[in-house]
Amino acid sequence: MLTTYKSTLKLLLLFHFTLLLAAIPSLGANERKVTKLADGVYAIEHKFLNDGNSSGNTTVIIGAREVFVVDSCYRPSTAAEDIAQIRQWTQKPVAYLLNTHFHNDHNNGNQAYMAAFPALAIIAQEETKKEMDLIQPGNVARAPKEIESFVAAFRQGKGQDGHTLSADELKLYQSIVPNLEPLLAEFKTMAYQPPTLTFTDKLDIDLGDREVQVKFLGRGNTSGDAIVYLPKEKLIVAGDLLVYPVPFTYDGYPSEWVATLRKMAALDATVIVPGHGSVLHDKTYLTLVADLLQSAVDQVDARIREIGFPGGHPLSEIKSAVNLTPFRAKFAGADKQLQAAFDEMADELVKLTFSEAAQR
Ligand SMILES: [Zn+2]
Repeated sequence: MLTTYKSTLKLLLLFHFTLLLAAIPSLGANERKVTKLADGVYAIEHKFLNDGNSSGNTTVIIGAREVFVVDSCYRPSTAAEDIAQIRQWTQKPVAYLLNTHFHNDHNNGNQAYMAAFPALAIIAQEETKKEMDLIQPGNVARAPKEIESFVAAFRQGKGQDGHTLSADELKLYQSIVPNLEPLLAEFKTMAYQPPTLTFTDKLDIDLGDREVQVKFLGRGNTSGDAIVYLPKEKLIVAGDLLVYPVPFTYDGYPSEWVATLRKMAALDATVIVPGHGSVLHDKTYLTLVADLLQSAVDQVDARIREIGFPGGHPLSEIKSAVNLTPFRAKFAGADKQLQAAFDEMADELVKLTFSEAAQR
């Protein structure tokens, strides 16, 4: 099982979909789970569908006049399930949908919301809209072809790059391929629905007896991570700045991410909805992730002091000097699969920190 994580990542890379830690069953929810966070405020964790990806969490905030939704899932059909659920909760319209960042496991479902609520405003930080406009139309156009070529290669016992699949890869692919048919059918009819309303630093919205603050606290997981803060309910919706139980560090800006998380920690909050995984009820995990990122940045900087400009050195010279294992037990405990996920993540984090440093 320990190779599953790495293999899944490779698989996802081949698909060119967003990479997700939740691609490991134990890290994704086995069932759709709805948590009531306050009167009229709900978090939805989506079921793991084992199709090479998985949806980010969705948060629903119901005001006296209208509804605000955070993130719209990987599959439009999953978004449609959420919309049906919202209609059971309230007849008020969804007036706002926020895309927390550009990764498509958080915004492929935009079109489903726009179809259901034509007066909808889809909000994104301006950098996120730029990234979505750049990347998402191609994602949408390529997705069916990539699934078809992945399945065709698999039928020959090969990966998309032509390599012969190992026994572990075969096992993993065999579990995923049957789930790709409905995904393919759905992706053939998917269209890119861009954000319709952008902001730079903040956007405060009154839904009627409920204040929603949308904030950009700085770069982190991407160049345009938006969070939502409900001051009265003391609640934060963090997007993938926080992914539980192991951070997502395959993209982003580690040194700035630390500062962004410290600003988030300064908000008066008792509930935090991460981009993936269970709802958090204090700031312990937030602090732990910030400390992990800080440690990676500090150790890479210490090494740069010894060797000079990082651009002139291979990654291996940095890697050997960075040790994140003191954090392993704090994230993974004794769970072997989580430990493997942590090791992969830590490996990627060092790479990412090094490449960020090399660009300074
Ligand atoms: Zn995500």
